[in-house]
Amino acid sequence: MLNKISPLGVAIKTALCVAWLAAGGVASAASVDYVIHSNAIYPGDGSGPLAGVVLVDKGKIVQVAKREPQNTQARQRIDASDLVVAPGFIDPHTHACNDFDKGQPNLNANYLTQGVTTVFCGNDGGGKINVGEVLDRYEQQGIGSNVALYVGHGAVRTAVMGRENRHASTEELKQMQTLVANAMQQGALGLSTGLYYVPGNYADTAEVVALAKVAARFGGVYDSHIRDESSYHVGLVAAVQEVLDIARDAHIPVHLAHLKALGVDVWGESKTIIQMVQQAHANGLIVTADQYPWKASGTSVAGALMPRWALAGSKEEYHARLKDPAQLPGIRVEMLDNLRRRGGADSLLISDPTAGELRGKTLAQIATERGVSPIDAALQIILGGNARVASFNMADQDIEAFMRQDWVVTSSDGSPGHPRKYASFPKKYQDYVQGKKLLSLGEFIQRSSSKTAQIFGLTGRGQIAPGYAADLVLFDAKSYAPKADYMHPEVLSQGVQWLLVNGQVAIQEGELTGKLAGQALRKKI
Ligand SMILES: [Zn+2]
Repeated sequence: MLNKISPLGVAIKTALCVAWLAAGGVASAASVDYVIHSNAIYPGDGSGPLAGVVLVDKGKIVQVAKREPQNTQARQRIDASDLVVAPGFIDPHTHACNDFDKGQPNLNANYLTQGVTTVFCGNDGGGKINVGEVLDRYEQQGIGSNVALYVGHGAVRTAVMGRENRHASTEELKQMQTLVANAMQQGALGLSTGLYYVPGNYADTAEVVALAKVAARFGGVYDSHIRDESSYHVGLVAAVQEVLDIARDAHIPVHLAHLKALGVDVWGESKTIIQMVQQAHANGLIVTADQYPWKASGTSVAGALMPRWALAGSKEEYHARLKDPAQLPGIRVEMLDNLRRRGGADSLLISDPTAGELRGKTLAQIATERGVSPIDAALQIILGGNARVASFNMADQDIEAFMRQDWVVTSSDGSPGHPRKYASFPKKYQDYVQGKKLLSLGEFIQRSSSKTAQIFGLTGRGQIAPGYAADLVLFDAKSYAPKADYMHPEVLSQGVQWLLVNGQVAIQEGELTGKLAGQALRKKI
């Protein structure tokens, strides 16, 4: 179904206008759960603001009209005349399932308070292979937001061949294809890869194409943390080219995860990347991306600095390499170059909530305090259990160039120790809608809801239109704002006054209600 949507947005616009006109204002009497009155309804298609009412019943939007139909019986009327009413936001790149996997009911409060009603997990090649079982489990335990899952290439590869640094055999490839097919039948969104990470890094393009073809058969999308966002190995441009090659060879819509130009060596390359994607569009390929609005990425000390080859095998094996006098000198040389690439020891801030007294210090500060070189300090931290860092490595010009593209949607890539997990959507609003005026409010909403739903084939979500799920965010345009920052990454955002998830109130007058109204979303084949 995705293949038919071109250019993005046209189909939605037409459908919405028809719905709006049909709901002219005076319909017959009806009994509904909620009537929301607002002067600023943004349907999600980039249009708006519209003044009118949204009627919600039994989890669905049943009518959008200029006036409340006569004799409407409502369980509750919500006066949102001073609020923006938008489709609940959809975050296509999160790690929220690490929280869901703790086995307890999970409100997902840090996303709800950003206005996010649906999160995706299993990105970067991660997650679990038994997608159906996992979705069932989340639903049974109770979740505050909706969730959808990728099947991760790394998880599939690990299940078949462990974390071994070699190409797959024909037999192994077949087994991996079966696992991908099973996951797609269980409702996965598509195939994700983390070709920068172990074990994705050990796979060649042909292996990925063979698996992406399976996902394509089931209407899936290929989502990739690309092989190199910087100049580590093949370089940013070649890594994007690999994704475009996969789109062509596997006949699959492709999506670049958390698009960025990471590190001084590749600053300014956004221009080339944008041209490559535009050329791919002209050639008929479907290529999209998501982006988070922060200058620092989130990773760990090892993730930022260690050469990939040194991470092969178990933790014990890679720690042994770091203590091996034969291998350590070579590792140190590569670590030093990686540190230079990321902007030096001042640009790595330990932000890990579990890092004790290291938290809030840069690698440079820790090295000075300990009287050792930054590389020695990094090795000590890694051998001591590693720590999450905020790595300041992006340039404004690249962030803004990517954000201007209408094929780039909002995401968080939320991870512990980085404010993006708590504040990405309001941060983008505050910095780029209100501040730099790079996007209109309508564009911000569209690229945080309907466009994302469209890219990933989430039917019946992401728009304010009759028949759509009643995932709705009602926020105050003046006070919607991030509260988390790099030093205080775990503070809930503010300004969402009401949030409906599947027609149930998750936030009421600015307060979380504790309602676990989220559903597991299974992609229909
Ligand atoms: Zn990633």
